[in-house]
Amino acid sequence: MKESESILKPESQHFIEQAIEKDLSEGKNDGRVHTRFPPEPNGYLHIGHAKAICLDFGMAEQYGGKCNLRFDDTNPTKEDVEYVDSIKEDIQWLGFTWEDREFYASDYFGKLWDFAVSLIRRGLAYVDDQGADTISGQKGTTTQPGIASPFRDRSTEENLDLFYRMNEGEFEEGSRVLRAKIDMASPNMHMRDPIIYRILKTPHHRTGSKWKVYPMYDFAHGQCDYFEGITHSLCTLEFEVHRPLYDWFIDQLKADDYRPRQIEFNRLNLTYTVMSKRKLLELVKDKVVRGWDDPRMPTLCGLRRRGYTPESVRRFVDLIGYTKVEAINDVSLLEYAIREDLNKRAPRVFGVLKPLKVIIINYSGNITEEMDIENNPEDESHGRRLVPFSRELFIEQDDFMENPPHKFFRLAPGQEVRLKGAYIIKCTGVVKNDAGEVTEVHCTYDPESRSGGPQAGRKVKGTLHWVSAAHALDAEVRLYDRLFSDEDPSGHRDVDPREFLNPDSLTILTGCKVEPSLAEAKPLDKFQFQRVGYFCVDYDSRPGKLVFNRTVGLKDTWARMNR
Ligand code: ATP
Ligand code: MG
Repeated sequence: MKESESILKPESQHFIEQAIEKDLSEGKNDGRVHTRFPPEPNGYLHIGHAKAICLDFGMAEQYGGKCNLRFDDTNPTKEDVEYVDSIKEDIQWLGFTWEDREFYASDYFGKLWDFAVSLIRRGLAYVDDQGADTISGQKGTTTQPGIASPFRDRSTEENLDLFYRMNEGEFEEGSRVLRAKIDMASPNMHMRDPIIYRILKTPHHRTGSKWKVYPMYDFAHGQCDYFEGITHSLCTLEFEVHRPLYDWFIDQLKADDYRPRQIEFNRLNLTYTVMSKRKLLELVKDKVVRGWDDPRMPTLCGLRRRGYTPESVRRFVDLIGYTKVEAINDVSLLEYAIREDLNKRAPRVFGVLKPLKVIIINYSGNITEEMDIENNPEDESHGRRLVPFSRELFIEQDDFMENPPHKFFRLAPGQEVRLKGAYIIKCTGVVKNDAGEVTEVHCTYDPESRSGGPQAGRKVKGTLHWVSAAHALDAEVRLYDRLFSDEDPSGHRDVDPREFLNPDSLTILTGCKVEPSLAEAKPLDKFQFQRVGYFCVDYDSRPGKLVFNRTVGLKDTWARMNR
């Protein structure tokens, strides 16, 4: 999408808002709106989750309702408190609160067990002694009914006895499961006697070794919604085909009219990255990236470290909207959202990524002037700062050419440029090393061209950023490019997305020079290095050894500073 297209975004309601308003107008659920965000604590949240979070918490906010945080912790082998903590941090960072409603599927293990036992008693569930592979081999196809398990018609007593013994740890993992007895010929494969309990002997991060059987996600999710009084259970499209099963369980469970209403919406997918916790975990484990919060990751902690603001993430989610159509969202729209936000809030500073020494030969070596420069031309309330100016400066290597082409309006022998907020200088000569590379550029300055001086308004074609060599601070700058060079790295059948890793996704520049006002900059502080891009202080930054991450370039060109 082009930046201008966002202005065309319709202000109308999306289909979920319409559905909720219809329920409210019909007086359903006594006018309550109660949603939940149900992450599985098996990884860090990514920007796809932000889309779900904005909807779940956003709808509750919009309609004066509540949103629960419920950890779907039904698989102890993959889950961890590290993930629980990071998920909470990320939701809060986005600006949402679950107040005191922090729940876990494991809070309901007792109730779910009782429900499973009641299904067995009613002849609606049975223990199957077959392995998962055999069971899935009997599932049939969309055109052929499944084959009934030889254990399907066990007696209630035998089923109950076996289920209890499964939970006492008597049987090995994978040796038996509990299945709902629904319909092996159903056109919906999820209704063909789905597995609802399995044996797992790994201790659980909350319930320890109390349980040896664990409910499957499909058996837990809908009932947890029901137990919590959720009115609108918003989830991604892949759960649409599970809905009849969730409804079947609720039909067997409930004694009242209330039922959570599931509404499905399209997932967020981004170009040039992968969006699944499993694939992201592989990148972390294999050390393809430096961790979950590597600034190249589409995780919320990665985006945060990169310099993204919660406002920009929410704005992006708003721009892409909620529909029923799967699509891949262009990462350049996310970049547009952060640029738009940082343009308003980031102070402008001077930072030189690839320094080239400039000596002003007619400027005294004994003085330093303080140049009074605005912090944000977009917003005067950001104030002004003093930037020291002296005889020796650094400019960007790219801003000088000894033999420039026509229309090169930066510095070149005999050519004039303005140093932003300071003087006009003219190049009079260069010094080269043995290899013939320019190591110093010699210039003269026009003393009357300073702001407030008689020649302040004199026009020259180019304006450069600069830092005073004696006052500059050293910095390391990390430039990021896309992690994958393919637009849809997961979209190739039988090809590992890692085949498409971009070998140049990280470039570390050392010896960068930034203005002294940045001495006190703290991790996550954000700046615009004028003419260069938006930068964010990294967690690795220390006084005396500043480290910046480039959040995004100023324009929609990734290659610009990488040349
Ligand atoms: P992943 O596939 O990345 O592992 P998941 O769906 O298994 O994600 P959960 O922790 O189960 O992750 O997700 C919590 C909620 O976030 C679910 O309601 C899910 O539908 C939603 N969600 C996950 N990924 C996306 C996405 N890419 N776009 C929108 N919502 C998402
Ligand atoms: Mg999941």
